Amino acid sequence: MSTLQLPQAAPSSSRKVKYIREIEAVPHLTAAQKDRLKAVVDRYVFRANDYYLGLIDWSDPNDPIRQLIIPREEELKDWGKLDASNEAAVTVAHGVQHKYTHTVLLLCNEVCGAYCRYCFRKRLFMDGNDEVSNDVSAGLNYIREHPEVTNVLLTGGDPLLMSTRRLREIIEELRAIDHVRIIRIGSKMPAFDPWRLTRDAELQEVLRRNSTPRKRIYLMAHFDHPRELTDAAVEGLDAFLRCGVICVNQCPLIAGINDDEEVLGTMYRELSFIGCPPYYLFQGRPTAGNEPYEVPIVRGWHIFRGAMRRGSGLASRARYVMSHETGKVEIQAVDDRYIYLRYHRAKDPAMRGRFMIYHRNDEAYWLDQLEPTDVSGQLAPAFAMSAPDEILEGPE
Ligand code: SF4
Repeated sequence: MSTLQLPQAAPSSSRKVKYIREIEAVPHLTAAQKDRLKAVVDRYVFRANDYYLGLIDWSDPNDPIRQLIIPREEELKDWGKLDASNEAAVTVAHGVQHKYTHTVLLLCNEVCGAYCRYCFRKRLFMDGNDEVSNDVSAGLNYIREHPEVTNVLLTGGDPLLMSTRRLREIIEELRAIDHVRIIRIGSKMPAFDPWRLTRDAELQEVLRRNSTPRKRIYLMAHFDHPRELTDAAVEGLDAFLRCGVICVNQCPLIAGINDDEEVLGTMYRELSFIGCPPYYLFQGRPTAGNEPYEVPIVRGWHIFRGAMRRGSGLASRARYVMSHETGKVEIQAVDDRYIYLRYHRAKDPAMRGRFMIYHRNDEAYWLDQLEPTDVSGQLAPAFAMSAPDEILEGPE
């Protein structure tokens, strides 16, 4: 049974958060700390708000909420790539990514409610980046011409930071495309600003009208730590559920924030209780600036396994995956000698389901650092479900 205390932040359906863009404006840091962080925020932008900063226990320098939002000098270490999963390679039009047969991503906003220090898309927030498209017409045309696309993910950045008018336009345009069955909204706003939906009757109506019995809207929520699940956040999620939106959670495994089986297990249990069960746990990508937040694969797998044992089936639905350039590689098991992986999704449909065995390496944090075994190639056909997507899922 968990001993973690869950937080209480009073619900108030119409509250507005106050955004803070300057590290100098954070009252709890000393002048010397702010001075040292200036070079960090010059490279990787800072943004927070009064509500989220209010969740931090400032007496604890290792407070997980603090780690999530307050920059660290170690981010400046020369490490990783800005586009670690090579999203450029699957960009089919401005702001449009198509990697897996049935799902297209529209990068439609370049701002978030706050900036997670470990973000794998931090390049979008940097000066000169032009990957996000405010005009989604190229994406909509692409989707119209691809009837195999049944899922569209609105992402960025955070789509729920867009105006309701823009959201309405995009959602209604997507709903007018017959073969688009699921519209996903990837958002951390339920954690950063729980009142985004409760104070917006118009957006509630847009969601209610466009999440239909046969064509649902999904909220791909992003909670990283159980302390984000305040009363206000739970009420905010409830508002999505009441609008007919299906809620699931996906988050990375992050050092200093949720790399602990009790923390992760507690969050998964709570998420299952409130109707937002876990979906993916992501291995942190080797993104520039993110070294302080990385957890090696083997350690990550043990944490994940421990968390999975702490809850019901609904609290244990997450898959632990690496969003690798070649596909979503699920970390299935680790023993004394090997790491067992499987392509849950693959960029090349022929690779989907392929089972792989790599030599155990306790330092490795990414697929490219692992060495395949000789047996991997021999065993693969016996274990693989490497049929093309069309066979596995049938025509849509
Ligand atoms: S909410 Fe998502 S896109 Fe925005 S900073 Fe956090 S991880 Fe990155």
